[in-house]
Amino acid sequence: MKVSRYSISTLRETPADAEIASHQLLLRAGFIRQVASGLYNWMPIGLKVLQKVTAIIREEMNAAGALEVLMPVVQPAELWHESGRWAKYDEGQLLKFKDRHERDFCFGPTHEEVITDLARQELRSHRQLPVNYYQIQTKFRDETRPRFGLMRAREFMMKDAYSFHLDAASLQQTYEDMHDAYSRILTRCGLTFRPVQADSGSIGGSASMEFMALADAGEDVIAFSTDSDFAANVELAEAVAPEREAESGAPAERVATPDARTIDDVSETLGVDPARTVKTLVVAGADSPAVALVLRGDHQLNAVKAEKHPAVAAPLLMLEPDAVRKATGVGIGSIGPVGLSIPMVVDRAAAALGDFVCGANDEGFHTIHVNWSRDVGEIKVEDLREVVEGDPSPDGQGRIALTRGIEVGHIFQLGTLYSEALGATVLDGSGKAVTMTMGCYGIGVSRIVAAIVEQHHDDNGICWPLSVTPFEVTLIPINAHKSEDVGAAAEAIYQDLRDAGIDVLMDDRDRERPGAKFADAELLGIPQRVIVGDRGLKSGTVEVVDRVSGTSTDVPIADVLTHLQSVLR
Ligand code: ATP
Ligand code: MG
Repeated sequence: MKVSRYSISTLRETPADAEIASHQLLLRAGFIRQVASGLYNWMPIGLKVLQKVTAIIREEMNAAGALEVLMPVVQPAELWHESGRWAKYDEGQLLKFKDRHERDFCFGPTHEEVITDLARQELRSHRQLPVNYYQIQTKFRDETRPRFGLMRAREFMMKDAYSFHLDAASLQQTYEDMHDAYSRILTRCGLTFRPVQADSGSIGGSASMEFMALADAGEDVIAFSTDSDFAANVELAEAVAPEREAESGAPAERVATPDARTIDDVSETLGVDPARTVKTLVVAGADSPAVALVLRGDHQLNAVKAEKHPAVAAPLLMLEPDAVRKATGVGIGSIGPVGLSIPMVVDRAAAALGDFVCGANDEGFHTIHVNWSRDVGEIKVEDLREVVEGDPSPDGQGRIALTRGIEVGHIFQLGTLYSEALGATVLDGSGKAVTMTMGCYGIGVSRIVAAIVEQHHDDNGICWPLSVTPFEVTLIPINAHKSEDVGAAAEAIYQDLRDAGIDVLMDDRDRERPGAKFADAELLGIPQRVIVGDRGLKSGTVEVVDRVSGTSTDVPIADVLTHLQSVLR
């Protein structure tokens, strides 16, 4: 390909609203262009990368025995009513619309409903199982906060797969096969990643694992053990119950804390460590107006854990100050567990305190030396908090450390959640109808492209891994319009490389200065750069520069092809 015939348009300036490297660089290098919030055009050079990632995924899915299908992006509301998700899918992420007959439809954010409908029609006998269908397709989710370019778009490319089984053992086998296929896919894409235990979120189901590409720009936080292979999304990571302290027996005492609104204020006023205080958060209850969640002052509430509790409304809703006052009779800064009239759940670490400070349920007062059994009585104890660095690892080995990751894939054991709702059964060996057990497996194809850039870039631009690079070599003639020799030599090398099957982009722009061409080559991230100039030609050589190391080698023209073949293969 020649740049003069290709649409390359790079930007010198970093677009103002692009916060992370992948978003900035993919825009600057002209791989994508924004249409509207969360909607992007893929330019020719960007689409080449997307297609290479897609090809790797397709190869590995096929090798794992999955069967490719293509389902419609537009889905009828009826199926979503059957599954019960029409009203409640992910807080309004479902884009709904009506057709000319006023029938309800949505733009598919995921395809459990459609595939289960397909399976209940196509799969009749246990002999057809197990089967794993996949597709690579556009999804739409009306994300609350589309941002970071391809990372959290509204329209994006996903590979989604759904497997059907007679029993749990068969599901487990396919789940493991998908785990291995995902590991191979991400490795081939050049990603450093970690599979972590995950929450199953709105899709529901039991076992689930996320594949996290490690990157500081990641929106997820991973808790892992310093001494074992335990790793979990912090959304899910268990905070181990500490040893319960003996209660102090010291007499409880009411103290005035007139200006103390926060835990920090209270600790400072009373001269106590925040870890010896408890805070009481008030949230909407599942079937009561308010529920109190009690945590140690230095700990943070984990919303995912809290909303799993049967007494707590999901999604989690913190009550506004007025609602809190109405429910408890006291303002937010002075609530405490002693004599509280609303239902209460206490975090394990708060429950382990033998003596603590808390709000006195009286405006401007706190109580010190509170003891649970003496002052509060029977309490409901749960794991409600976010783990922190240094916590013991839940598997009993080592301590928790935290790192950031980008969720590029997610595998779930769904069980019979959808097959039961939609009545997807097969006849087993004895002719009895059995509800199929399901798994589902998603990969963010376009998000992978962003994750690769997060892990493979430097100050000058992108550094594509060979497996996904849009071109393998960029060929830069220097001042070819002034030197016929340069033009002819570059053209000859261009033809040789192409004949040998090397994907080469020749920057044949006449009016661009060499410096600008070099800068573009670095920005585009093509692994090898061949520079053809008058000076080298005098000694029969060209300069070959490696994008990542920056190493420059003078290579005799006759050896250019073999040199490139050896560094590229
Ligand atoms: P997230 O927690 O990041 O919103 P999710 O749990 O909603 O992801 P899944 O429903 O498991 O995601 O979708 C499968 C894969 O699709 C994800 O692992 C991710 O790689 C990708 N994906 C999800 N939402 C987006 C998005 N808004 N933009 C790009 N890719 C996405
Ligand atoms: Mg999501």
